[in-house]
Amino acid sequence: MTERRPLIAGNWKMNCLRADGLALASSLAAKASEKGELGCDVLVCPPATLLSEVAGVTKDSAVAVGGQDCHAAISGAHTGDLAAPMLADIGAQYVLVGHSERRADHGESSTDIRKKATSAHDAGLIAVVCVGETEEERDLGATLSVVNGQVAVSLPDGATAQNTVVAYEPVWAIGTGRTASVQEVAEVHAAIRAELVARFEDGDQFRILYGGSVKPSNAAELLGVEDVDGALVGGASLKVDDFWKIIEACA
Ligand code: PEP
Repeated sequence: MTERRPLIAGNWKMNCLRADGLALASSLAAKASEKGELGCDVLVCPPATLLSEVAGVTKDSAVAVGGQDCHAAISGAHTGDLAAPMLADIGAQYVLVGHSERRADHGESSTDIRKKATSAHDAGLIAVVCVGETEEERDLGATLSVVNGQVAVSLPDGATAQNTVVAYEPVWAIGTGRTASVQEVAEVHAAIRAELVARFEDGDQFRILYGGSVKPSNAAELLGVEDVDGALVGGASLKVDDFWKIIEACA
């Protein structure tokens, strides 16, 4: 079986004013430095206002920084957006693309996501491509076709295990306190793995994260599921102790 180093990623979403965000990033960086060798890679994705300063605070630690989204273009007349090279320029190593909140709030399609992922790759960033079914789609029995369809269209041909991470996040489990069962997670992750292996030479090496109400109490169980190579964490990433417990569940 291929060894994949887990990734624990925190998505701060539209939370944290400067003082709270910098305190959170500093405590996390301090904990990581104190611990030394970690059992996983660690990433935080702060809001755009804090990216540069959080990148400064975490610079010499094992905590990487990522954007929550990027535009597909590298520059131009796109008010309010950020280009992938801008994220790379301030020291980001990753960017989330296709989070369900972007797909829902901004009408982003998988075709849009593929263009964003390509732009991220061109800028030297690792794209964390998010996919996941709505509750209605799950109730209709369409989970695997929806998720596999999103993976097929959202990942560009240039994706590799080095420049791309897939995050499976059932929409009904994000921010709701509801988590997919171990069986549900295993089934979807196996289907994503099969899709990746069929399409990419190094498909068995891509990391596939689970996201959706991951917390300290369920992290070890979810991270123990086959083909779960880490977690994308929203709410619980805003409390350093909770996020740290999830990181430690990887060890
Ligand atoms: C997310 O934002 O990607 C997420 C999974 O949020 P939460 O952990 O709060 O469900």
